[in-house]
Amino acid sequence: MTQIDSAALIQAHPIVGELIALKETSWFNPQFTTLAEGLPYVGLGQQDIAAAHARLQRFAPYLAQAFEDTAASGGIIESPLEPIPAMQRVLEQRLGQPINGALWLKKDSHLPISGSIKARGGIYEVLVHAEKLALDAGLLQEGDDYAKLLTPALRDFFGQYRIAVGSTGNLGMSIGIMGARLGFHVTVHMSADARAWKKARLRAHGVTVVEYQEDYGVAVEQGRKAAQGDPRCLFIDDENSRTLFLGYAVAGERLKAQLQAQGTRVDRDHPLFVYLPCGVGGGPGGVAFGLKMALGDHVHCFFAEPTHSPCMTLGISTGLHDAIAVQDIGIDNVTAADGLAVGRASGFVGRAMQRLIDGCYTLSDESMYDMLGWLSAAENIQLEPSALAGMAGPQRVCASAYYQRLHGLSAGQMQNATHLVWATGGGMVPPEEMAGYLSKGRVRG
Ligand SMILES: *Cc1c(COP(=O)(O)O)cnc(C)c1O
Repeated sequence: MTQIDSAALIQAHPIVGELIALKETSWFNPQFTTLAEGLPYVGLGQQDIAAAHARLQRFAPYLAQAFEDTAASGGIIESPLEPIPAMQRVLEQRLGQPINGALWLKKDSHLPISGSIKARGGIYEVLVHAEKLALDAGLLQEGDDYAKLLTPALRDFFGQYRIAVGSTGNLGMSIGIMGARLGFHVTVHMSADARAWKKARLRAHGVTVVEYQEDYGVAVEQGRKAAQGDPRCLFIDDENSRTLFLGYAVAGERLKAQLQAQGTRVDRDHPLFVYLPCGVGGGPGGVAFGLKMALGDHVHCFFAEPTHSPCMTLGISTGLHDAIAVQDIGIDNVTAADGLAVGRASGFVGRAMQRLIDGCYTLSDESMYDMLGWLSAAENIQLEPSALAGMAGPQRVCASAYYQRLHGLSAGQMQNATHLVWATGGGMVPPEEMAGYLSKGRVRG
């Protein structure tokens, strides 16, 4: 355990004082660089993303048959992009801050198979593993129709292998459902904040769920331990996985095509601001990486965290990354935003992305519940609390003369901006659970 001197840390990084006070606060990265300068620190490049694209393409015929809800898109797991003008007006009125430009929603909440952003990274990592095992065993060739993975012979083959993962809920759902469908034995180590319905759904898919009274960090450690010394068990390491990261990064090219299809430009005079809810960092980090690679320096990426779990804001702003946890400065890591209930950020993502992330901010659970209700009333879109974290971002950027100056953004450019809130989950929340969420907002939309 590191000993953290909070007073010294606050002295050097005033933002830490705001985090300890559990204030809703914003941190704009003074050390942001261009993609060209930041890329070497990521250690991954265009060819890695292209390989991930190609792999997902190979699996598409399989996925289209294995999961009915991917059939319409030919086995490609992608989410809709929608304008939310009514929500934009509600936010402007409620928060007393105009949002320059147009507000859009990226509905990863409605991704097939698991209804969250984890359907990108989690599923991708399982597919990478399955493909490697089957290729090595000579049971599959890259040119094959991967629908053959549905045959009993292949399912029996995967049945000799195990997958383990620690999760606050959604990662377990994605890996569990995908892994079990292929034939693997999957064990998900669930932290205390994981919702009961997610555990029940996993068990219904034949996944073993181990429950902990502790938080995400403990669930991951237990998963890691259980997998150790078992050569037939893959431990999916959410804190360090490059594979997960690449699964998320594929979103960049996909979004670029969606923006083009609906006529939205991204260039110097038309900046794109993207607001990504952040837990351990793999999801938002991978998506941000993919977006910068696909769209360049005029896409600005912000990570959004609960005031009680600001691990990435803390790690990046201090440069301590995974050498510090929110608990080290007296923050409890207790939040209704279960997907974001992470006390220690991924060291890999923090270091890889510290020059490419444009800022981080925090918001309270109450704010997430308020906006959950406003979105439901204004647009009839229902999300889980975590997925609302991005919704506070446009005000933060539009209200910050400092940020706009730092990036040389004029009023005219701001007026042309697109603000994209990444809705990361909630599409599969049962109605009675959703009614509970909707009852929590303080101010009705
Ligand atoms: C996991 C998750 C996130 C954040 O992803 P990380 O990779 O943990 O940073 C955001 N929203 C939801 C709903 C999630 O499940």
